[in-house]
Amino acid sequence: MPSLAVIGHPVAHSRSPDMQTAALAELGLAGEWTYGALDVAPADFEATVAELAAAEDYAGVNVTVPHKAAALAMADEKSAAAATIGAANTLSFRDGRIVADNTDAGGLLRALPGSVRGRRALVLGAGGAARAVIWALARGGAVVDVDLEPVPVHVWNRTMERAERVAAELGGNPEPAPRQSAYGLIVNATTVGLRGEDPFELLPLDRQSFDPEQVVVDMVYTEAPSALLGAAAAAGATVVDGLEMLVQQGALSLRIWTGEEPSLEAMRTAVRR
Ligand code: NAP
Repeated sequence: MPSLAVIGHPVAHSRSPDMQTAALAELGLAGEWTYGALDVAPADFEATVAELAAAEDYAGVNVTVPHKAAALAMADEKSAAAATIGAANTLSFRDGRIVADNTDAGGLLRALPGSVRGRRALVLGAGGAARAVIWALARGGAVVDVDLEPVPVHVWNRTMERAERVAAELGGNPEPAPRQSAYGLIVNATTVGLRGEDPFELLPLDRQSFDPEQVVVDMVYTEAPSALLGAAAAAGATVVDGLEMLVQQGALSLRIWTGEEPSLEAMRTAVRR
């Protein structure tokens, strides 16, 4: 019986087990496949993954904070997405070999409405999530099966030197003082909001300056509604939350392991329960 799991530290809060179990059930695979959660400290990560890869029953794992770079480092094979982004959120175990992928990039593109075509994008952040977003937007439909041309990407980060480095590496432009109204797509790929911080204090965004033409994405998801998306929605902007992205990246991972296209509706219902 093939097993799957999410590995993180901590991991108890993860919605992936419920979401992926619902998807497996909808595919009629619940009797054959299982999806659990493994809380693994950084010092134990490599040994644990090596053990799972050698085990008969494990088909793969999702990898979350803080293990995405370590997951990439120990892979025998890496997709172009994972290698360039420098992080893996999906590992597949094939004949004892570890294959790394990054479905955050494709997941972001699949979460976007078609209306972002041709828009200028502002990405906030320069960590692992931002790298996936910048890489994905700068390549568009070449990353995953979506109808999207590459879009111009501007990158702001609290530590601007990091934004400069990441933009040069992945195909964006550093932007130390972005004008909010100049962007048709704004993506928060920082951790701001995770612990209830005020995004309008810490990010170069003004609560009153969203407009109905914009698409605003907040990759952060918490129990409480996002203050950033609340303000954007109040101005009539189209909003995409971190749970929709979680669903899309999880669906791509499940497709890699099972070869099947899971039900997004079943996954959405499970993560929002
Ligand atoms: P990370 O590598 O630790 O990067 C953190 C980023 O946040 C950096 O750009 C950092 O700026 C910035 N930051 C932290 N505190 C800040 C503050 N007080 N003010 C301004 N900027 C601040 O984290 P990550 O892996 O990229 O993850 C970022 C977020 O995306 C997390 O909340 C994660 O849960 C979420 N995420 C969601 C999904 C999904 O499927 N929805 C997938 C992946 C990630 P500095 O460089 O200046 O430190």
